[in-house]
Amino acid sequence: MNTLRETFLNELADVYDAEKQLTRALPKMAKASEDDSLRSGFENHLKETENHVKRLDQVFQALGEKAKSKKCKAMQGLIEEGAELIEEEAGDAALICAAQKVEHYEIAAYGSLRSWASLLDEPEAAKLLAATLNEEKATDQKLNEIAETAINLEEGEEEHAHSRK
Ligand code: FE
Ligand code: FE
Repeated sequence: MNTLRETFLNELADVYDAEKQLTRALPKMAKASEDDSLRSGFENHLKETENHVKRLDQVFQALGEKAKSKKCKAMQGLIEEGAELIEEEAGDAALICAAQKVEHYEIAAYGSLRSWASLLDEPEAAKLLAATLNEEKATDQKLNEIAETAINLEEGEEEHAHSRK
């Protein structure tokens, strides 16, 4: 069995890779967005995500460890699904759903990481991880708000109109 510190370092390496994958995926999500507030939301979160990578560098430093990356297959899958939706021109509602799946994954990862940093008596790491956790939660909340502003409604009405003919 791994020690908690080993588990902590493994999960950090996983999320480090996940964030780097996201810096490549978010520009494509922004480009595919119809709604201006959704597009600027993705652009803002790209900047935050670049900072999440830097913060993880600082976490590794605070722990006195070399930064390590481990392929995050879960994020790869989530991003692949997002890419399919872009390909299919599935629309903003589908993009928001894909993005929220990503944020919830990150919230789960950072929630555990922050708790473990506290348990392992690493307050600097805990503080850095909590800062990112809060940004992921705020992004999720912002996506909720955009989702509630009737995205894809026009297309939906069009289909409705057709089906009534
Ligand atoms: Fe992030
Ligand atoms: Fe995020």
